[in-house]
Amino acid sequence: MSFRLQLRRMFRLVFGLAVACGWLALSADGSAQMASSDIVLHGSITPDKLGKHEMLAFTVPAGIERMNVELISPGFQKGMYLTAGLFDPQRYRGEGRSTFTVSTVDATGPYLPGPIVPGEWHIAIGYNWVAPGSKGDFTVKIHLSSQLDPERYRVLNAKPGWYKGDMHSHTGLTDAMCKSQSGANVPCPPFRLFEAAALQELDFLAVTDHNTPATFNEMMQSQLYFDRMLLIGGEEITTVKGHANVWGTEGFLDYRVAESGFTANDLFDQAHKLHALVSINHSCWPYDGRCPGCGWGWAQTDFSKVDAIEIINGYHEHGSWFTPPPGDGVPFWEAQLAKGLRPTGVGGGDEHRAGEQLALHDGVGIPTTVVYARELSEPAILEAIKAGHVFVQVTGPEGTPLYLTSGTAMMGDAIAAEAGKSVEFAIATPKAADLKLKLVLDGHEVKELPAAVPDGEGVKWSYRFQSDGKRHWLRAELVDARGESVTLTNPIYVNWAK
Ligand SMILES: [Zn+2]
Ligand SMILES: [Zn+2]
Repeated sequence: MSFRLQLRRMFRLVFGLAVACGWLALSADGSAQMASSDIVLHGSITPDKLGKHEMLAFTVPAGIERMNVELISPGFQKGMYLTAGLFDPQRYRGEGRSTFTVSTVDATGPYLPGPIVPGEWHIAIGYNWVAPGSKGDFTVKIHLSSQLDPERYRVLNAKPGWYKGDMHSHTGLTDAMCKSQSGANVPCPPFRLFEAAALQELDFLAVTDHNTPATFNEMMQSQLYFDRMLLIGGEEITTVKGHANVWGTEGFLDYRVAESGFTANDLFDQAHKLHALVSINHSCWPYDGRCPGCGWGWAQTDFSKVDAIEIINGYHEHGSWFTPPPGDGVPFWEAQLAKGLRPTGVGGGDEHRAGEQLALHDGVGIPTTVVYARELSEPAILEAIKAGHVFVQVTGPEGTPLYLTSGTAMMGDAIAAEAGKSVEFAIATPKAADLKLKLVLDGHEVKELPAAVPDGEGVKWSYRFQSDGKRHWLRAELVDARGESVTLTNPIYVNWAK
């Protein structure tokens, strides 16, 4: 045996079966206080193992939320075909893929999601085929993480640009209904919602079922099929005094908010700790008996913890027991802006019928939230929403875009302008010359509007603002002949520090 080979064997002995190398730090109670850790298992493949199963043990510490497993072997082309079964200390978790993930809330197809219980787990290596005379090695790489989320993060489109989506939707895992084969009203399978959103040609859909992580496994399976439409993980945290969307985590969020003890502010802190964003939903709805618990009624809310406000909600279910009041959430939103806060105005279809009512101009994608993101991925979309790089098309994905810029700044950005300085705002839409522009400065409609300049099939405007060195905000809106909002931008902020 050469020295090099000896060294390699020693290496395997030390770092081989069930040895973790990572960033583990065990606390006094034995739970893992760490981001991640890796375990590497090795084995050899010989013809005498054909048809057998070998159980490889490894130890999982407490505090693990996700496990990623990769079996690397020579493969069928080289006469060796192995499978990887997974057993936790109590039960069988699945078999059938060489690369898979298992977490507390979701798992690759054949595997079962559920608690990643601490203790001795096993990979069952199945020697399904070893051709006569074939010999080789295999490696199993196991990555353990105390974070739930990163696995779902995929980049569906690497290009920066404007992406269209819906930030609020429901499946039949909570209260979305649709017609069954025989016409009965049944809880609607999540796939129906995803398909309806894809038919609307949305780039992303936040799935926000009420108080449940049950949707996440469905989303993980479906994301493989919907490879052009990003499914964003969310929950509509449905408290007894208001609903708030939380986007960007699969972690536990407590809906048991009260006036004292665990408050709405604590819920927001909990979400932020999980790197998620929070948005107050259907902010125009009242807190009264018409829709019990729907309007925002938590008096002590610290709005500096609120990342977004749903200014347009699309819930208009025909024949529903609840008819939303007329109006929108703009006054609620502007009241926060007036305080010096900058929550992003977003839209939410609040779809509960999986697209069945599209013909009635309701449903998923109506309104559409349009976001300028560095790529089409969950972190990028949420980053852009946090930044306010957003406009809302009230009438849906085929609606009218509206862009507000000032130099290199776009809606959501802040610019500095000392007293006496003149600031130029550019407003543009690529279509809809028949729509009227509305400019809102610090919550008041600008009386003297700039002249509309035809620009191809669209229109552009240039608005000059004389700065007094103080804090201001300007947003743009398109309205139709009846004065109804068609598109609303987020503001550009002047002299705001954030
Ligand atoms: Zn709601
Ligand atoms: Zn909802």
